Amino acid sequence: MTSNEQFLIQKVADLIVTSSKVVVFTGAGISTESGIPDFRGPGGLWTKYDPEIFTVQRFLHDPEARKTYWKLRGSGEFVHSDVQPNPAHYAVAELEKIGKLDCVITQNVDGLHEKAGNSPDKVIHLHGTMEKVKCLQCGRQYSMDEVYRWIAGGIEVPDCPECSGLLKPQVVFFGEAMPAWETAEAQRRSENCDLCIVIGSSLVVYPAALMPQYALQGGARLAIINREPTDLDPSADVCIHEGAGKTMSAIMAIVREKIC
Ligand code: NAD
Ligand code: ZN
Repeated sequence: MTSNEQFLIQKVADLIVTSSKVVVFTGAGISTESGIPDFRGPGGLWTKYDPEIFTVQRFLHDPEARKTYWKLRGSGEFVHSDVQPNPAHYAVAELEKIGKLDCVITQNVDGLHEKAGNSPDKVIHLHGTMEKVKCLQCGRQYSMDEVYRWIAGGIEVPDCPECSGLLKPQVVFFGEAMPAWETAEAQRRSENCDLCIVIGSSLVVYPAALMPQYALQGGARLAIINREPTDLDPSADVCIHEGAGKTMSAIMAIVREKIC
């Protein structure tokens, strides 16, 4: 680690120690070290696939798009059920254990914050979750694990076993509105925090990416940990362009020493 990196890590640790209401805002980049590809980083999914197949309009109205969607999902190239949290998720969970965390606002749909130990009521899912699938006709819910088993058994496009209705993962597709309660709550928490830490987000997906801006408008300090620069870097108190796992582990090691 260079002395500059060490200096920046120390700076984020100091920000945490002197804060009491930390909002952590996470994107796909926090989960790449768990083996889930992001969308826009180098080698991200958009370098391989057309984002068009993920629009809600295509999913609902084009059977071929649905087939491609489920084929990709079933291939495990996205999120699969045996993925495990990495040190960055555990560091965020530790922020909750030491009483610093107000909440995690996540764009991710992988469930890894809860798997790492964050309580469900501390995690706001702006883009839904991949763990559940809902029938749009009768409203029944199924676990994604169950649907994956159907796909592994040879079903190309799963539909509702009860009513043959269209099954849709409980995630926010492109072109679909964000969940109202979660969006309002995330804004309120962001405006009222004293420190916002962005981890692994390109900050280009709106309105999710407004959250760190609300934090700044509310007078909070801002730290950004992302491999690549973001448009919000000039407004941040600290930016670290490194991997989330090693950076968050190093930060928490200092925090632990200072507060214990
Ligand atoms: P993004 O793909 O737009 O950006 C990810 C950012 O993380 C990139 O700038 C990249 O440089 C950075 N990054 C990658 N690996 C990193 C690492 N190890 N440490 C630090 N930074 C790293 O992601 P986004 O901003 O979350 O927007 C993408 C959308 O796609 C989100 O809305 C999300 O719902 C969805 N998505 C979710 C998952 C998931 O649940 N894990 C995965 C892919 C996409
Ligand atoms: Zn049904």
